[in-house]
Amino acid sequence: MAAHGPYRIVILGGGTAGWMCASGLSGLLAAADYDITLIESDEIATVGVGEATLPHIKTFNDMIGIDEAEFMRETAGTIKLGIEFVDWLRPGARYIHPFGTFGDRWTNADFQHHWARARLAGTDSRSLQDYSALR
Ligand SMILES: Cc1cc2nc3c(=O)[nH]c(=O)nc-3n(C[C@H](O)[C@H](O)[C@H](O)COP(=O)(O)OP(=O)(O)OC[C@H]3O[C@@H](n4cnc5c(N)ncnc54)[C@H](O)[C@@H]3O)c2cc1C
Repeated sequence: MAAHGPYRIVILGGGTAGWMCASGLSGLLAAADYDITLIESDEIATVGVGEATLPHIKTFNDMIGIDEAEFMRETAGTIKLGIEFVDWLRPGARYIHPFGTFGDRWTNADFQHHWARARLAGTDSRSLQDYSALR
């Protein structure tokens, strides 16, 4: 039992933020000590767009015991590895921003630091994008 509980937590809004907050709190807090209520409106719709997430969503899902395969099936989700930017810097330019790292971390530094050092030293003229698995 919490020192001064049970506590009442009210979450206003039943969109992405509200339901993630409610599921996160109910996964972490002892049910006997906290009463969680979510209030949503039947008249005001959620923004209702596709939600891309980053790999950290798995940490959140694991925390509240969501099975990833079931989650993907029930939400009709797809695996998204990055976003392609076409004609972003200049016409004809193409860049994929990956939802992850470019390479392995070694000697206590992320890959891009080794890439930048080699590039500045003139020993590697390739772009960072050349090292992306999504090229
Ligand atoms: C085109 C587009 C693409 C996007 N893509 C991404 C993406 O890829 N990844 C990502 O993370 N984010 C994305 N976002 C942002 C993301 O969709 C929103 O930030 C997120 O959905 C907001 O969640 P929310 O719970 O705050 O709001 P909503 O999902 O809009 O929910 C609001 C809730 O509050 C309730 N409410 C409102 N007023 C009241 C009231 N007076 N009383 C009671 N209930 C009320 C509503 O009924 C609803 O349930 C995108 C947004 C847009 C517009």
